[in-house]
Amino acid sequence: MFNLQELVRKNIWSLAPYSSARNEYAGREARVFLDANENPYGEPLNRYPDPLQLELKKRLAAIKGIPEDCIFLGNGSDEAIDLPYRIFCQPGIDNVVAIEPTYGMYRVCADINDVEYRPVLLDEHFQTTADDLLNACDEHTKIIWLCSPNNPTGNSLHKEEILKVIQQFQGIVILDEAYSDFASQQPMRREILKHPNLIVLNTMSKAWASAAIRLGMAFASKEIISIFNKVKYPYNVNLLTQQQALKVLEDPFEVDKCVKLLLQERTRMIEAFRLLPICEHVFPTDANFFLARMTDAQQIYNYLVDCGIIVRNRNHIKLCNNCLRITIGKKSENNELLSALRQYK
Ligand SMILES: *Cc1c(COP(=O)(O)O)cnc(C)c1O
Repeated sequence: MFNLQELVRKNIWSLAPYSSARNEYAGREARVFLDANENPYGEPLNRYPDPLQLELKKRLAAIKGIPEDCIFLGNGSDEAIDLPYRIFCQPGIDNVVAIEPTYGMYRVCADINDVEYRPVLLDEHFQTTADDLLNACDEHTKIIWLCSPNNPTGNSLHKEEILKVIQQFQGIVILDEAYSDFASQQPMRREILKHPNLIVLNTMSKAWASAAIRLGMAFASKEIISIFNKVKYPYNVNLLTQQQALKVLEDPFEVDKCVKLLLQERTRMIEAFRLLPICEHVFPTDANFFLARMTDAQQIYNYLVDCGIIVRNRNHIKLCNNCLRITIGKKSENNELLSALRQYK
């Protein structure tokens, strides 16, 4: 049986969170606010923002199909990646398991929090099995990190294996779906309604074209979300970010159009890469980027830098030797990349 209290660090479970002025006064009717030592001049930025971002969560709940109280909002996914370490992992004692290669922040946050990080190498198709991941766990493993579609490989992990991990692991499974808007298969975020040990991450940085405002999301049981809320900084998402996010969310169709365009460009770019003599392989992708194995990634990378074009060199990453990760840009940008590569010698 899954027992949340057993997984949470004792100091966090018993933590009395900071109670801000705006926490204590949750009503709507008041006209005069003399409770938070704010400056009355300089509206509207003189006031503290809603610490729980309720209006924004209401919108997101409708769009994502997740109850409001199962949503945490943070300063980018970065915050939603860091908090589980601080909530679940006793420094120097506990460990986490993750697929390898994957997004670098899971390891950086483990290192910062002094938590052992146990990578499990993907196979040659960039897939993993529940058994391999579970075999890497011991009694101190608190979290298993999954990322699907995965960065930097681009592919989605097999859904059956993800479900098997969630069902068989007694700790927390975190599934990062930063790129799910670009995937051919359905996102798994609504599985949090069935699985009390699952946390799913989303972000406004990719499909929603808002990396600058720093807004990341975690979806999980309301019990887990309330612990996130206890540990986060009181005003972790500023007012400008909340306002801008609401503005972007007004028009989900605009986002759909943008995603469709990027997917068309992705197909075109992959076909063009396959015809390049310096490209040996393009890996299948479900994201807004693709991984390509080149004849000499380092030299081609340097050449592109000289042309003023920056791609991501993944040459030194496990299983990615001689690979470049190419983000899908605007049509004109993609064409610049292609024409530079066609002139490479
Ligand atoms: C880009 C990316 C994110 C987004 O991070 P933010 O902090 O929200 O900008 C999250 N996870 C993965 C795997 C990514 O590649």
